[in-house]
Amino acid sequence: MKSAAADAPPLPDLLGLSRAELAQALQPLADRPFRAVQIYEALHARGIADFAAMTDLTKDLRAALAERFRIERPEIAAREISEDGTAKYLLRLIDGASIEAVDIPDGDRRTLCLSSQAGCALACAFCVTGYWGAGRSLTAGEIVAQVHAIRQDRHHEADGLNLVFMGMGEPLLNLDNVRAAIEILSEQISLRRITVSTAGVIPGIEEMARWPRRPNLAVSLHAPDDELRSRIMPINRSHPLADLLAALRRYPLERGRRITFEYILIRDVNDSDEHADRLAKLLRGLPAKINLIPTNPDAVLGPGMVPPPPERTAAFQQRLYDRGYNATVRKTRGDDIGAACGQLRAFARDPRGFRREISPPRPSPAPEPEREPARAAARRPAGATSRNRAL
Ligand code: SAH
Repeated sequence: MKSAAADAPPLPDLLGLSRAELAQALQPLADRPFRAVQIYEALHARGIADFAAMTDLTKDLRAALAERFRIERPEIAAREISEDGTAKYLLRLIDGASIEAVDIPDGDRRTLCLSSQAGCALACAFCVTGYWGAGRSLTAGEIVAQVHAIRQDRHHEADGLNLVFMGMGEPLLNLDNVRAAIEILSEQISLRRITVSTAGVIPGIEEMARWPRRPNLAVSLHAPDDELRSRIMPINRSHPLADLLAALRRYPLERGRRITFEYILIRDVNDSDEHADRLAKLLRGLPAKINLIPTNPDAVLGPGMVPPPPERTAAFQQRLYDRGYNATVRKTRGDDIGAACGQLRAFARDPRGFRREISPPRPSPAPEPEREPARAAARRPAGATSRNRAL
């Protein structure tokens, strides 16, 4: 709801406020203390996005609320539904920034893959979001609103939903807002069904370790040694594996819980038996689940970033099993609509943070030579490939 005039600052958004913050914000207005509870329930349990629809409030209070606050829902700028039922949303935020969120059916449950930032600064060599560049952090309200917008669009109950912070951005670089959003969302959806995935931001992991209640933690590992990991994940240069593993060994886990390690399999880069052996050794003693993800190829990533043949993936998984690890292979979902892991780019943007201007189509580039998987090669502007334009 864009109620503010174009040049006036937007009214404060209520969606990201905790119960206590909401009560405080409403104090000058509410005639009775229970009003804050009523409004909080209307916002979060009933998903109401319009003060006028809060019919259990007096008319005057509804009008006063609408004058002072907003309930910000993103605009659904595009929605694509994959053959497997996965739905990818392009959501436009109040300042025009765009993000993607994905709704993935999974038997009688569903997983919503949420973005925490409108882009990503980490520049992992295999990830299209990182290729596209950094974007601003989302507010807590914007994170919560992704769930509301999709639930309303798809008529989902909170029951049966899993939430994963595996969309665009690095959640641990926006941890205060991610935490505030989780506090709110976990009233409807159990913390056991919420997972935060990090590329390995150690200060963020240490901060989460101090939270009194925690969601599940997933770590994008992708390589078992510093040399390779630094090559494909630049964050490893400032947060190398020994420090990361030490922080994870200190991380408090409740009984029966494990840390999920995501490991993308990239053909001829990190998929050999030796890599599997080193991975097993690296994780020894940690309560770990390993999630193997055959790389989702993408035109902008080039031919250096493709999945291994299925036999190689199976052999890698077997190798980990033989060393006592629970390793699953993640089924690719929504790849026909560019909704799979590492394919989220909020397709209204051009690379490295520049919003697309309306411009005549550029000529197709000449065919490119075989590329190294190193990120320098993957940094070439790619907005001109036909695949990009199609998105
Ligand atoms: N920044 C966080 C959250 C993004 S999660 C993180 O790195 O964990 C996105 C997940 O998709 C991560 O495990 C990421 O490594 C994975 N991913 C990125 N690019 C991919 C690709 N091309 N194929 C498969 N998985 C990919």
